[in-house]
Amino acid sequence: MNKGKIIVLSAPSGTGKSSIIKRLLDYPELQLGFSVSATSRSPRGTEQHGVEYYFITHEEFKNKAEAGDFVEWEEVYPGTCYGTLKSEVKRVTEAGQNLIMDIDVKGGLNVKKCYGDQALTIFILPPSKEELEKRLRGRGTDAEEVIRKRLDKADYELSFAPQFDVRVVNDDLEKAVEEVRTLIMHNA
Ligand code: ADP
Ligand code: 5GP
Repeated sequence: MNKGKIIVLSAPSGTGKSSIIKRLLDYPELQLGFSVSATSRSPRGTEQHGVEYYFITHEEFKNKAEAGDFVEWEEVYPGTCYGTLKSEVKRVTEAGQNLIMDIDVKGGLNVKKCYGDQALTIFILPPSKEELEKRLRGRGTDAEEVIRKRLDKADYELSFAPQFDVRVVNDDLEKAVEEVRTLIMHNA
C-alpha cells in the first residue's frame, strides 16, 4: 500500500463516522493515523483533549485561523468552528501513515480540491432520517437543542453526497466498516 493517502469521511452528525473510524484504526495494515481536529465546542461524554479533538476556546480558534494554522476550517454550526490543523497533517504523514479525517461536507470537498487524487472522499449515508434521529438521541450526549440543530442540517448535508468519490450506507455497522476498509485497501 502506498503511504500518504488522505481518507475523508463525511456525513450528517449521528450517522456513525466516529464509530466507523474507531474500528478502522484497529487494522494495522491500513496504516491509518487520525487527524485530530481543533474545535470550539465543549467535550461530549468521555471525549478527551488531544484524542477526539483539541478543545480550544473561540478566541484561540480565531487566532489560529488568522495565523494560517489550518488546512481548512468551517463554522459547521452557528458559533461552533472545526478545523484541520496543518500540524496534524504533518504529524501523520511524516510518520509514514495514511491520514483519516472526520470532517464536514464542505471541508471534505475542500480537501479534495486541495489534494486531488491523493484524497479519497467517502460519504457515509444513514439508512433513513428516522434512524439518524434515533442514533443522535441514542448517543445520549447532546442536549435537545443541539440534536435539533444537527437534524435540521442533515438534508442540506445529504445534498452533497453525489459530489463525493464514493457513498457507503451505514445500516449494519460491521458491514459498513468492511466496505470502507475494502475501499481504503484498494485506493491507498
Ligand atoms: P458521528 O460520528 O457520525 O456523529 P457516531 O459514530 O457518534 O456518529 O454514531 C452516533 C450513534 O449511533 C452512536 O451512539 C453509535 O454507537 C450509533 N451507531 C453508529 N453506527 C450504527 C449502526 N450501524 N447501527 C446502529 N447504531 C449505530
Ligand atoms: P461533532 O461535533 O459531532 O464531533 O462534529 C460535528 C461536525 O463537524 C461533523 O460533521 C464533523 O465531521 C465536523 N468536523 C469535525 N472536525 C472537522 C474539521 O476539522 N473540519 C471540518 N470542516 N469539519 C469538521
